[in-house]
Amino acid sequence: MPSKLAAPRGTQDIFPPQTGRWQELEARIAALARRYGYGEIRTPIFESTDLFVRGVGETSDIVEKEMYTFTDKGGRSMTLRPEWTAPVMRAALQHGLFTQGPQRLYYLGPIFRYERPQAGRYRQSHQFGIECAGYAEPQADAEVISLAWDLLQEYAIGGVTLYLNSIGDKTCRPKYRDALRAHFAPHRESLSADSQRRLERNPLRVLDSKAPEDQALVASAPRLESFLCTDCRAHFEGVKLALEAAGVPYTVDARIVRGLDYYTRTVFEFISDALGAQNTLCAGGRYDQLVGSLGGPDVPAVGFALGLERFLWAIESAGTSEEARREGVQAIAIGSQALQALLPLVTGLRRKGAGPVFIDYGDRKLLAQLKIADRNNARYALILGENELAAGSIVLRDLVTRTDRPLPFGKDTLEALGELKG
Ligand code: ATP
Ligand code: MG
Repeated sequence: MPSKLAAPRGTQDIFPPQTGRWQELEARIAALARRYGYGEIRTPIFESTDLFVRGVGETSDIVEKEMYTFTDKGGRSMTLRPEWTAPVMRAALQHGLFTQGPQRLYYLGPIFRYERPQAGRYRQSHQFGIECAGYAEPQADAEVISLAWDLLQEYAIGGVTLYLNSIGDKTCRPKYRDALRAHFAPHRESLSADSQRRLERNPLRVLDSKAPEDQALVASAPRLESFLCTDCRAHFEGVKLALEAAGVPYTVDARIVRGLDYYTRTVFEFISDALGAQNTLCAGGRYDQLVGSLGGPDVPAVGFALGLERFLWAIESAGTSEEARREGVQAIAIGSQALQALLPLVTGLRRKGAGPVFIDYGDRKLLAQLKIADRNNARYALILGENELAAGSIVLRDLVTRTDRPLPFGKDTLEALGELKG
């Protein structure tokens, strides 16, 4: 295949057996979200570029350099969804969901960011996330965090830490911004180019810097905690109390500020030490001003996004993903007459839906077909050769215990196979 036809850089093809792991994870996510009372929302894969510029913020990495933006044939600027929160809030606002009261929504699907591809960082990746909109109370923050925590617990991935912080609100953050500017300004020249630029527009983002030359100054920067206003402080204490009530352990870390502009008060990240440099599994926070900035009413909200690629990677490195179980039946016919006779049974088994039913249509010997059964990871083989056909019987072979059981072959065979499991 010419290499220019290969999948674009930073994207992945996902196929069996890996798709099975995705489906399993997606099913667990749906079940967990349901238990917490969250319903699924699906939004378009592209939106008006303005939505992200306004919603995510002009000084965010996403808007500054990561968006897949194109002009459609009608001359409108469109962008492939780089994150879900702004589209979810846009949809809820557009359809009047907020007028019905608080909303608990979850999403699962692809995002697109023009990033430098590397392990754990793709140009098309997938996120699961939730948004809890309509509650300003700290218990909502803890609920959201607790749901993420439960998902991570289900897989027993070791070495996961929840880092928690408060970045204040419009009352206290401006003062903190000034203090940060005052701290960094005298050392401007020694900061990375990115940080120098951010220092003007959004000095909090300097704290988020991964550049080595910034680390010493970041470490000595003033802490937001001492700047928090009374309300933000009370909120932060409320979140901690509610997390304790939910039995979720956390570590307060002043360096967690998050890269998206819309966060207020609570921000958090779940970091795994099983991953390399891209070690944030899940990140989120409270964003009380987002809906307002989209032209809606003030709707306090909190949510998180979890990267499915990184999560599956962590599950695999923890070795908690099970070996694929043998499952289903390989129907094996020797000769064209036997094949014709076996087809109704194959159809019958498939319609009963007890498990996968495999069949090979090539004219192959028994041994070759048993190899195919192994490749399919089938639990049983149903073997119909010329001798069996003549004798009116069929052989059921258990491929795990390697035992054969002859069964009468006829219209009752399907019935007799009724108890076949797995
Ligand atoms: P980072 O600092 O790693 O760039 P971010 O702040 O851009 O992360 P968010 O936008 O909060 O990340 O996304 C939440 C989660 O989505 C991340 O913690 C990560 O698991 C996942 N994620 C984000 N971008 C990518 C990507 N390009 N490839 C794979 N997963 C990603
Ligand atoms: Mg990023």
